[in-house]
Amino acid sequence: MPHEPKIVSGVEVTPLCDAVGAMGEAIRRPLPEMFPGSALPDEPWVLHFHCYLLRDWAGRLTLVDTGIGGPGSLASSWAPVPGTLPGELAAVGVAPADVDTVILTHLHSDHASGAVSDDGRPIFENARYVLQQAELDAAESATLDRVVTPLKAQLHVVDGDAEAAPGVRVHLTPGHTPGHQIARVGDLAVTGDLVLHPAQLADPAVRYVYDDDQERAAATRAAVLAELRAARALLATAHFADPFVRL
Ligand SMILES: [Zn+2]
Ligand SMILES: [Zn+2]
Repeated sequence: MPHEPKIVSGVEVTPLCDAVGAMGEAIRRPLPEMFPGSALPDEPWVLHFHCYLLRDWAGRLTLVDTGIGGPGSLASSWAPVPGTLPGELAAVGVAPADVDTVILTHLHSDHASGAVSDDGRPIFENARYVLQQAELDAAESATLDRVVTPLKAQLHVVDGDAEAAPGVRVHLTPGHTPGHQIARVGDLAVTGDLVLHPAQLADPAVRYVYDDDQERAAATRAAVLAELRAARALLATAHFADPFVRL
């Protein structure tokens, strides 16, 4: 079931829980190795995989991230596929065709796979898909084949800060991936993989081993979190057990 929604600046924000589980053996490592510089104990890391539905006063629907996808998705080597995003949306009365805008924070397989069915169809057939140019430029060939090419006619590529939908802005936050972006509505920030674990809120210098560029990711995380903290922002996180955190 979806987590409890919140109303932020007149927009209903619903966390959709696509999956809950540990990383598969292919990439799993002890927690202290996964987050170098942290004092985390060596205990199992159970991730939630959250997407967020934003419904504004006019009924416009924006989905941020699309989860781990079907049984054959690129995430199937390490994530607990299939994701339940379609069921989560149905539970709040939304059909995929109703979604106007899809923001992909980045192209990692646990954020973008649910954009396309296993047989290569765009799941959100009427949506435009907002992606950063730098993310597109850095996409691996498997991701291009499986995710980007099927979406081609619906892709809306932006470069830096941009309006993704009325009242919804995206900000380029590179480091985790070259074209990682977060989404902002009022004082809400949907943070994608800007932060992976609550330990990085306490100390943004804590690295994540699967950041493409750990140094740049840490600098971006520190700068963006400082800005969000000054704004007393509400974070909507991808992988924390509690989707919302008020800074
Ligand atoms: Zn969850
Ligand atoms: Zn990622």
